[in-house]
Amino acid sequence: MQTESRETLVIGSGLAGLFFALKTAETKPVTLITKVSLSATNTTWAQGGIAAAISSSDTPEKHAADTLVAGAGLCHEAVVAEVTRDAPERIDDLIKLGVQFDQTELKDALSLGKEGGHSERRILHISDHTGQSLHSHLLGLAQKNPNIELLEHRFAVELITETPFLSAPVCRGVKVLNSKSSKIEVIFANRVVLATGGAGKTYLYTSNWEGATGDGLALAFRAGARLANLELMQFHPTCLYHPQARNFLISEALRGEGGILRDSSGRDFVKDVHELGSLAPRDIVARAIDSEMKQTGANCVHLDMTHHSADYLEERFPQIYNRCQSLGIDISNEPIPVVPAAHYLCGGVVTNLSGQTSLENLFCLGESACTGLHGANRLASNSLLECLITSYRCAELIALNREPTIKTVAIEEPTQTLNDASRHDEMVVIDHMWDEIRRLMWNYVGIVRSNRRLLRAAHRLENIQQEISEFYSDFPHHSDIEELRSIATVAQLTVECALRRKESRGVHYSLDYPDSLESERHDTLIGGSAF
Ligand SMILES: Cc1cc2nc3c(=O)[nH]c(=O)nc-3n(C[C@H](O)[C@H](O)[C@H](O)COP(=O)(O)OP(=O)(O)OC[C@H]3O[C@@H](n4cnc5c(N)ncnc54)[C@H](O)[C@@H]3O)c2cc1C
Repeated sequence: MQTESRETLVIGSGLAGLFFALKTAETKPVTLITKVSLSATNTTWAQGGIAAAISSSDTPEKHAADTLVAGAGLCHEAVVAEVTRDAPERIDDLIKLGVQFDQTELKDALSLGKEGGHSERRILHISDHTGQSLHSHLLGLAQKNPNIELLEHRFAVELITETPFLSAPVCRGVKVLNSKSSKIEVIFANRVVLATGGAGKTYLYTSNWEGATGDGLALAFRAGARLANLELMQFHPTCLYHPQARNFLISEALRGEGGILRDSSGRDFVKDVHELGSLAPRDIVARAIDSEMKQTGANCVHLDMTHHSADYLEERFPQIYNRCQSLGIDISNEPIPVVPAAHYLCGGVVTNLSGQTSLENLFCLGESACTGLHGANRLASNSLLECLITSYRCAELIALNREPTIKTVAIEEPTQTLNDASRHDEMVVIDHMWDEIRRLMWNYVGIVRSNRRLLRAAHRLENIQQEISEFYSDFPHHSDIEELRSIATVAQLTVECALRRKESRGVHYSLDYPDSLESERHDTLIGGSAF
């Protein structure tokens, strides 16, 4: 088995991993691995932008207040205050790195968008492809940086831990599946930074990229780290409903520019449930759509942008305009068919704002972490911001550390890997389990939940887990099986967390407990111990 050592190993090439690597490389060498190609991330899919209070009428306090309202009583207030206070500085860092956000028509100021739940215009954006442009710029810088080593097709399959006598476990490195050679490699490191993103693929309908399978959460849980609030999956209200375009998000920024959600008769139905109508917070809009679709049996609802001209829409939202156009939908002339989809996990591995987890030498950043910023419901465009803030602070903390000699531990040689003939045979079973978990999560653990449905899901997932572990002992270390293990673990933990929250709050809505209760206003902690 190939064994290597690195001082700092980052897993994930999204905004969290890249920004951390760039900042760390100012003082130390850093290695970044990713399971597929470097641009296969949720970051590249982000459309709307990044929130920061930079206009003259705005303040970090207003940004914090909006974040707290969306978070429905579960945000950690000190975290919110620090993140919103530091936001303008981190935006400045990006501008100094050469990122070019859109400017106003007169080119005298940055152009600021508005999104649901924000009381001010504060969304910095690059047209409607903010994530892609930001990512390719930062990746370009990382590729040129001699202190950064970038390795693609390295799938992290297990964290290596050591538990010294009478002490808590310490992370010593990672087992990695090299998906080109199909071999397991070991990378020991002084510190491992999980920046592995979200878990939207646990659900049948999602806005997330193919590999958003919650691997980092499953790895951290299995290694004994503490996780929180996995029941708090945010469903984005508006994904395009079209047979040829699954996973295509219709950004909240459209509703920020006056888009109205309408039922099949043209009625503005969200107005009936919230005074902000289509610009109400995401959980309320998603539930309103879910309820509208269930009551009427409709397959989708419609987002109406026809009050804007084709020229304006093409200029402001080129990606969405052109994608819809290519599918035969002229959004200046007809409303866009949309449905809700699993979008953003507010919970994750418990960390502080420097990314420290409950395991020594293990850090976690970005969407896979739970810092307390988002509470029970993320405010739009706060997630790219969180990636920046925590990555910056984590890199600052690590810069202060003296580098000890990298410690290695004995590792068992891997057993057999799947050969081509048996793989072909077994892929059917893997596909089936994959599909079953995602369907079950959508039907029983979706936008509206009940104890009965959750218990049914828990029971089924227990059996599936049993089948997967039998499977895994025969055929370990294949990326499809690893991802299946991840979604099964995340699904099971999600159901456990959902059963424990005996109230409705933010994105978690239970028919059995429709109200928010002061006695239940706390994080749902699972696994590991406090730090
Ligand atoms: C369609 C869409 C639109 C969005 N729009 C916005 C927006 O406008 N504003 C906003 O703030 N947020 C938005 N979000 C959310 C935001 O994009 C994400 O929260 C953020 O990009 C997460 O960044 P990350 O670095 O944590 O993870 P990612 O960008 O998802 O990167 C994760 C990385 O980890 C790697 N990885 C995962 N598992 C493994 C493994 N086992 N081994 C090795 N590598 C692994 C992946 O390959 C990838 O490189 C949007 C999300 C989506 C899906």
